[in-house]
Amino acid sequence: MNSSDPRPFPAAPPLPAPKRLNTVLRLYDGPLYRDWAFWMTFGWGALAAASIPASTEPSQLPVWLDTLLAVVIMVTVFGLLPTWVRLLVRRWLWRRRQTRPAASALAGAGAFAVRSVPVTGAGEATPAGPPAPAPSPAPSAAATPAPMPSPAPATYSPSPAPPAPGGSFGGGHESVHSCDVLTRARGTLPHPVARAVRTLQLAPTAKEQYDALLDAAETLAITISVTAAALLRAAYEDDAADEDRRRYAGARLAELRKGFVERGAMFGTWTTWLGRLGPLPANSPGPLPGFLPALAGSPGSPGIVDDLNSLRGERNRAAHGDKPKSEPESALRVRECRIAFDRALGRARFLVATPWLLTVSCTYQHRSHDFHVIARDATGDHPDFERRIFTWERPVENDMFYVHGPAGPVPLSPFVANSFCEQCRQTEVCYTYRTAKNEGPATLKSFGRGHEIKVPVLGADIRSLPVRPAAG
Ligand SMILES: [Zn+2]
Repeated sequence: MNSSDPRPFPAAPPLPAPKRLNTVLRLYDGPLYRDWAFWMTFGWGALAAASIPASTEPSQLPVWLDTLLAVVIMVTVFGLLPTWVRLLVRRWLWRRRQTRPAASALAGAGAFAVRSVPVTGAGEATPAGPPAPAPSPAPSAAATPAPMPSPAPATYSPSPAPPAPGGSFGGGHESVHSCDVLTRARGTLPHPVARAVRTLQLAPTAKEQYDALLDAAETLAITISVTAAALLRAAYEDDAADEDRRRYAGARLAELRKGFVERGAMFGTWTTWLGRLGPLPANSPGPLPGFLPALAGSPGSPGIVDDLNSLRGERNRAAHGDKPKSEPESALRVRECRIAFDRALGRARFLVATPWLLTVSCTYQHRSHDFHVIARDATGDHPDFERRIFTWERPVENDMFYVHGPAGPVPLSPFVANSFCEQCRQTEVCYTYRTAKNEGPATLKSFGRGHEIKVPVLGADIRSLPVRPAAG
C-alpha cells in the first residue's frame, strides 16, 4: 500500500483460489469449479440432455421440447433444490456458531457492546461476533425486497469506549486465528480495518502474516486519521462553533492538506499527523470523542501513535531490505509486532462510536420536515454492508461515505470515496493519497489492493481545505 514499498516477492506458485461460499447466484460457491453442487446440477442437466434424444420411447412432444422439459425438471429437482437446502443448512449452522462465541466475547468487553444492532433489508440482525463464511440472504430475499422495518432513530451511542489498561491485550503470543482482539475488530471496526485484520487472520504462512500485519497497521492509521479529519472538517465549517475550536480544526486540516499536495500521504504522514492532534483548546470535549486519550496514551502505557510509529519503523525496515528471510524469522517478527498492533487495535475501540455509513438514498418528508435516509453500514469485514434506515434533519448525498459522529452524519469526502477501479473493474473503498498543488485530479488508493484511481472532482476539494492557519 505504501508507495515506497518495493515488495520484492520471489516468484512463488500461485495459491489455489479461495472458496467464497454462496457468492454465485447466492446458491453456489465461487469459483464454480470447486463447488460439488454446481457439478451435480450440471451433471443432471447434461444427463437429461443426452438421454432424451437417445430414448426410443414414443412421445407426443417434439424431441427438442421433450429435452428442454427434461433438463429443466432434472436441474430443478436434483440440482437447485438440494443446493437451496444446503444454503438453509449453512445459514442455520452459521447462526448457531455466531451466537456462542459472540456471547462470550461480548461479555468480556462491554465497550464493544455499545453498538446498536443494525437493521437489515432482509429483517435479519447480524451479531457483532467473529465473522465466518457468511451465507448471503436466501434467493427470495434478493428477488422481492422484504418490507422495511419502521424508521429507526439515529442510533449513535455518545459514550466513547474508555481506553483499556495497557496490559490487557493479547500481547502477541496468541495465534492470529484465535486472538479475541483481532476477531472483535473484524466485527466492529470500520470496513477497511476490519478487512485488513481479516486478511491477517486468514494469511496461511508467517511471511504473509508479516505483510498483512504491516498493511493492517497502516490501514488502522489511515482509518483513524480520515475519521478524525472528517470530524475536524465539520467542526471547521460549523459557523456556530467557538473560534478556538475552529482555529484548532483549521490548523490540523492545513497540515493534512500539506501532506496531500507535497509528497502524498504515506504511513509516516498519518502517524505524524495523529501525533499532532491534541490537546484541544480550553479542555473542551471537542469534535473527536474518545480519540485523544487513546492516541496519546499515558505514562508507562504507550498510546496508539507510539504503537503505530513502532510498526511504521518495522515497515521501513522491511522496505529497506531487512525483510524476514525465513518462516521462523517471519513468525518471530510477527509475534514482536503483534504486541504493538494488538494494543493499538484494542485502543482504537473509540471508532465503534463513530461508524462509517455509505449512503444509498435520501428523501425529503414534507410532513415531518426531515429526511428519510437509507444507508449501508460499512462496519465489519464483510463487503456486503448491512442496510440501515435513519431520519435526519439535514440531507446527505447519495453513494458517499459519512461518519456517524456525535452531532450526526459528517461526510468523509474528500478523504474517503467509493470509486470504480478500472484494474479490478469494481468499486473499491479508497482514501485520498495525493493531489497536485494547483490543478488536476486527486489520486486515491484503494484500501484493499492499493490500486491508484484518479478522481477529478476531489482534487479541487482537497485544495479547498484550509491552507495557512493562524497559530493553533
Ligand atoms: Zn482495484
